[in-house]
Amino acid sequence: MPNVGILAIQGDVLEHKLALERIRVDVSEVRLPEHLESVDALIIPGGESTTIVQLIDLYGLRNVIQERVEAGLPTWGTCAGMIVLAAHLTDRRPEPLRLMDIEVSRNAFGRQIDSFERELHITGIDGSPFQGVFIRAPAVVGMSDKVQVLARLEDGRPVAVKQELRLATSFHPELTDDSRV
Ligand code: GLN
Repeated sequence: MPNVGILAIQGDVLEHKLALERIRVDVSEVRLPEHLESVDALIIPGGESTTIVQLIDLYGLRNVIQERVEAGLPTWGTCAGMIVLAAHLTDRRPEPLRLMDIEVSRNAFGRQIDSFERELHITGIDGSPFQGVFIRAPAVVGMSDKVQVLARLEDGRPVAVKQELRLATSFHPELTDDSRV
């Protein structure tokens, strides 16, 4: 059974945990550098990217996350997690971990009140469309050819991207009952 770590310093950690428990993988919460030693994968949850990055630096997690992910740890960033993984942001803050070759625009669809849901077709996920929940969501506005787009909105904006074993989604699969992502 793989042990999936959730970076548990801010954001919707509980929702990710419940979603992982539904698919019966072991889950552990990552708050300190040593917690990363025993995980087989890492999720950086949705939340507030400026706070998450501040706490990553406060708890000395930046280098260890970068080292483990660069060494091949499968990693998924949801929403704020996408922002944390980016190489570049259109905003000056926060200072992302630069683990995916993407440029990301925070709050690309507007404020909280502009949150929305959209049916998505995601490469690699068969069957009915996936219900994408977008909450003050970021969008990918640039990427290198190392990055593969897995899903786009109807206007063409990428909202799910993959680079080797790293995945980033603008939307929140953990807030649905659909475990496919
Ligand atoms: N807008 C948030 C940010 O910039 C992300 C929102 C979310 O994770 N739902 O960090």
